[in-house]
Amino acid sequence: QSSPILPTANPPAWLGVMGGGQLGRMFAQAAQSMGYQVAVLEPVLEPGATCPAGQVAQRLVNAGYDDGAGLDALAAQCLAVTTEFENVPAGSLSRLAQSVFVAPNADGVSVAQDRIAEKRFFVGCAGKSGVLPAPHKVIASEADIAAIDDELLPGILKTVRMGYDGKGQVRVRTRDDVRAAFAGMGQVTCLLEKMLPLAYEVSVLTARGVDGASVVYPIAENVHRDGILFTTTVPGPNVSADCAAKAQRAAQAMVAELAYVGVLCIEFFVLADGSLVVNEMAPRPHNSGHYTMDACVTSQFAQQVRAMARLPLGDTRQHSPAVMLNLLGDAWFADDSDAIREPAWDQVLALPGACLHLYGKDDPRRGRKMGHLTLVAATLPEAQQRLHEACLILG
Ligand code: ADP
Ligand code: MG
Repeated sequence: QSSPILPTANPPAWLGVMGGGQLGRMFAQAAQSMGYQVAVLEPVLEPGATCPAGQVAQRLVNAGYDDGAGLDALAAQCLAVTTEFENVPAGSLSRLAQSVFVAPNADGVSVAQDRIAEKRFFVGCAGKSGVLPAPHKVIASEADIAAIDDELLPGILKTVRMGYDGKGQVRVRTRDDVRAAFAGMGQVTCLLEKMLPLAYEVSVLTARGVDGASVVYPIAENVHRDGILFTTTVPGPNVSADCAAKAQRAAQAMVAELAYVGVLCIEFFVLADGSLVVNEMAPRPHNSGHYTMDACVTSQFAQQVRAMARLPLGDTRQHSPAVMLNLLGDAWFADDSDAIREPAWDQVLALPGACLHLYGKDDPRRGRKMGHLTLVAATLPEAQQRLHEACLILG
């Protein structure tokens, strides 16, 4: 796959993306602005329904993620294929890779899909990365629950597969809580993680090319609400230069260890004593990297295009301090009301440095990611002040 003689995929070649959500949409927009054509594979279920990426791509292949004919159509049309959806079956990426360049490949994606494989990778890589994950234990049976070390409680029980935005997680204090939570999740294999006293959370985006060269973005500080990313601030107000350097070094060590091609995001916890713990990784552009669209020379989506097209990676330099605010469906509802109302975009966009991104979803629901707003300014306090004003407007 990483044959050095594989030529670059130049525009107007077709690039493919597995998944039709907002990440696929922003990928498609970045690729198109560089002159590429984009095909999206998405299992849109209802006739006439659209998806965020399908609205903008030149072609929508309407097929399941494991549909052979759909995968073959994507492979036949495209010079390279990537994924925006973390839970694409690894076997589908392998099948695509028989006839088209796939980045990231099945190996990289499958590590991130499975919390056990992911933890094993983090532990194995600790000598090079300098960071460890939270203490943890696989919970697959009653015997595993009986054998839990008291040290791991209180903790968080997480399903091994398909968790996102805090879904598939239960906080547990006692062994009985674990039992109840494990039963509540249908006894699927879980991972129990010790609950750590987080001072704050950060993430680092990195990208690696087929030639092994890698780049890293500035460290981002993330605030979650109800398990969903709420804001990303860059530079992070709490982040020390030492912490940033450690996290960036760790991310680059991991992307090299995986021999990964494409954009990868690593989430870390920072504890009260300043120590760094690696949490999880996403084998794709990440919500915490959306600020790069408006605040960095090369957005994370343009970077993904460059990596999969085997072109030189772009400059990751941040040119403006930025705060990114996720726009959840909640902003479309007044408190305690079920009536949908448009947010006051005229007021939001009157804020200097406001950059609005909406994903083309027509049915707002509470907790649903509808878009994001990035506030850029000459200084971080100004960007933060505008975030504050935006939150007042959005309610
Ligand atoms: P998801 O796939 O839903 O993003 P995460 O593992 O990142 O799952 O967990 C979501 C959030 O829950 C984290 O961003 C963090 O705020 C909190 N969290 C997760 N694991 C721990 C832990 N071991 N200790 C303390 N907080 C945690
Ligand atoms: Mg997470």
